[in-house]
Amino acid sequence: MNRKIFSALILLVLVLLTYFFVFEYYASSELEGKAKLESDSIPAELLQPDPTILYGMVVDSFQVQEHAVKRNQSISDILLAYNVSHQTIFQLANVAKNVFDVRKIAPNKKYTVIYQDVDSLPSATALVYEPNPEEYVVFNLKDSINVYVEKRPVEIKEKAISGTIQSSLYEEILKNGGTPELVDLVADMYGWQIDFTKIYPGDQFKVLFTERNIDGKSVGVEEILGAELIHYNNPFLSVAFDQGDGVDYFDEEGKSLRKAFLRYPVKFTRISSRYTAKRFHPVQKRYKAHLGTDYAAPTGTPIYAAGDGVITKALYEKYNGRNVKIRHNATYSTQYLHMNRIAKGISPGSKVKQGQLIGYVGSTGLASGPHLCYRFWKNGRQVDAMKVDLPPSEPIKEDYLSTFNRYKSYIRSKLDQIPYPESEDEVLMAGMQ
Ligand SMILES: [Zn+2]
Repeated sequence: MNRKIFSALILLVLVLLTYFFVFEYYASSELEGKAKLESDSIPAELLQPDPTILYGMVVDSFQVQEHAVKRNQSISDILLAYNVSHQTIFQLANVAKNVFDVRKIAPNKKYTVIYQDVDSLPSATALVYEPNPEEYVVFNLKDSINVYVEKRPVEIKEKAISGTIQSSLYEEILKNGGTPELVDLVADMYGWQIDFTKIYPGDQFKVLFTERNIDGKSVGVEEILGAELIHYNNPFLSVAFDQGDGVDYFDEEGKSLRKAFLRYPVKFTRISSRYTAKRFHPVQKRYKAHLGTDYAAPTGTPIYAAGDGVITKALYEKYNGRNVKIRHNATYSTQYLHMNRIAKGISPGSKVKQGQLIGYVGSTGLASGPHLCYRFWKNGRQVDAMKVDLPPSEPIKEDYLSTFNRYKSYIRSKLDQIPYPESEDEVLMAGMQ
């Protein structure tokens, strides 16, 4: 071979090799640079897979399905669909006993199944049930069967809402971002002062309250701190205050917003018989005094203690049927007749709070149909519960008065800072200018 041609070929090979090495080097370093630059925008799991964590479990190699519990669906129904054996379900119910009662699984609640396909059949690894937004129950089915309840961190946030009523308090609160729960709380709070069925357009309200938040989403009202309602141009201030026996609401002068007694101790359908000195008794078929108010309601309707007090009677009697009597103080007692059932824990000597469940409507004793016969005693004599002037609940006690007054000023200044939303008319006028 010609030496010249040979040398030329060697040179050519060297040049080519050099070219390739250099090109490869730059190309790869360029790629690396690009990768470094883009590592911020490329989803992290593509570069360096982060495990996917759900309910504190790594679920990457699993499938996940979310459902809502159907009516009459039991934990067995749920797990059998994911090929969990009867034996495992039995064991699980046993292990769960002290943590969560599996019979309490309720319709429409969310549950999540974490499973793998085994021989193309789903096989559950874990079940997570959410009884409420604040907690979830984990049922671990593999390895060692175990059950635990996990609570999500709840953040309490202060919120304010205000509005001018156009048609109803309900609509106005919802329109301004409130919930039906908040409407109920406001209506209950002012229930003694204001008849919300007679609210009038132009009435205004401001409510300062705290909300429970999970992952930035509201899961309910914690409590109302204070409120102001302008009803027919009269201001009604409400300040939440605890003087040692739980939170109550007080007005400007430190008087309780609540009366000592509920107006009605039961949600009734109609008043079937009023208090009267003389009436024709439907069962005894003769004229007789009726020293109570009869509220007709279906059997099983809850009956609530009209006020705080101590149970003095809880028994069955021939004419009164199952009945409960409460001594509220030296002056007042109330009695509840013809109950189908007396509530758990209601027996002579036990203390009750206003609104506490004491029993259920029935027709035991001398009664022609299911109703509550409500009797009101004042100074040992029976009076008409519908006509008696109900006394207010305990006001702020002397010892707490200065603390209450300082707190009231603080709440008032906070309420003063809440603006009313611009009315639609004002917005329209502003737009026209
Ligand atoms: Zn009666």
